[in-house]
Amino acid sequence: MFEKILIANRGEIALRVHRACKEMGISTVAVHSEADSGAMWVRLADESVCIGPPAAAKSYLNIPSIIAAAEITGANAIHPGYGFLSENARFAEIVGAHGFTFIGPKPEHIKMMGDKITAKQAVKAAGIPVVPGSDGAVTTEEEAFAAAKAIGFPVLIKAAAGGGGRGMKVAQTEAELYEAVSTARSEAKAAFGDDAVYMERYLQTPRHIEIQVIADSFGNVCHLGERDCSLQRRHQKVLEEAPSPAIDAAIRAKIGKVVVDAIKAIGYLGVGTIEFLYENGEFFFIEMNTRLQGEHPVTEAITDIDLVREQIRIAAGLPLSFAQKDVVFEGHAIECRINAENPKTFAPSPGLVTDFHAPGGLGVRLDSALYAGYTIPPYYDSLIGKLIVHGRDRDECIARLNRCLGEIVVAGVDTNIPLFQELLANPDIIDGVYNIHWLENWMKAQAAA
Ligand code: ADP
Repeated sequence: MFEKILIANRGEIALRVHRACKEMGISTVAVHSEADSGAMWVRLADESVCIGPPAAAKSYLNIPSIIAAAEITGANAIHPGYGFLSENARFAEIVGAHGFTFIGPKPEHIKMMGDKITAKQAVKAAGIPVVPGSDGAVTTEEEAFAAAKAIGFPVLIKAAAGGGGRGMKVAQTEAELYEAVSTARSEAKAAFGDDAVYMERYLQTPRHIEIQVIADSFGNVCHLGERDCSLQRRHQKVLEEAPSPAIDAAIRAKIGKVVVDAIKAIGYLGVGTIEFLYENGEFFFIEMNTRLQGEHPVTEAITDIDLVREQIRIAAGLPLSFAQKDVVFEGHAIECRINAENPKTFAPSPGLVTDFHAPGGLGVRLDSALYAGYTIPPYYDSLIGKLIVHGRDRDECIARLNRCLGEIVVAGVDTNIPLFQELLANPDIIDGVYNIHWLENWMKAQAAA
């Protein structure tokens, strides 16, 4: 087993990885920008190294600085968390070339799934159903027109290198098609340095349902059930739950087997998530994330499996500590992504946290590096914590979540806590009847009222 792990990330996820390491008797190295020197995960780590100025490009994305920090501290392995360098195949390669273990999948799979066009082709060949669409990149007007005709309107134009919900454009009709394609291409070029786009049927009422998978180097592959992440704003997840209110055990077992067989065929290693849109009883693959995800705690809550611990064990060459038959789903879990932002305008609200109180009690988990007196820096995303609540069933979970949202205190900055309180009082959310468009539609109705 590793003696020392460098955590190449910040905020709540850096703390999350630190916690798994400590429980395994592994020392931790935090790396941080000049803006994060007093942060809680830096203080809790056994060692810390400043890797650059506040801008992420010069610190959390600065590969030479991170490698140098691993060399200086004598770390054995690097955990990338999520975001930043976690899905950067070149980083994974460089880590390996310097004699460190990258705690994540093989670079070839990061590359394969990082390009959504090759990802779709690879999983389709491995037996996973995909959203009907153009089979490859769409570059000319003729190609766009021919693809749209075959798919049927409305169509969605997506960036091959896309992520974070960016670079997507809907064309409702043929008249909108050319402009949507050219806007999507220029947005993709600006955001990802790659203007390749492809097209898919734009689904009207799907839920976003993703399957968590885990594979070791002995050929053992398990699925850990699904997460329902249909509550989204701008294609970004706001609240996640497991199990999905739309899935039963038979459907779960069926899609789980399809996914496990495909992951085996691909030869994937480590944790990963296969994301689907689910509509009228059918699953359609949209992408695979080759990393730990922000919403992984809801799966941990209902399976009682520590995913970061398993990631570290797999990277160290150990087998999975469980088999598929040992995976049992208990109760219901919901996660709220708490952001420092205005709950109505969503404008970021960095600054001094003057007072902080964490909710607690049975079934309550708060993954956050916040403390009273902490200053949220303006340079990074606005996520300041994740509140994860587990109950024996969905009703108990919602009641407990409401109780926690009433208890938590984050003063001095705006947060989206009031938004969650409003959402959890809504009959559609209480009944679990919502799809990926629900939140945007609800917000439009609120604005109009
Ligand atoms: P990203 O990598 O940017 O997150 P995804 O492919 O994972 O992009 O899609 C993000 C979200 O965008 C999905 O959860 C869904 O809400 C929406 N979306 C993606 N593809 C489609 C589609 N074909 N039809 C309707 N909505 C879609």
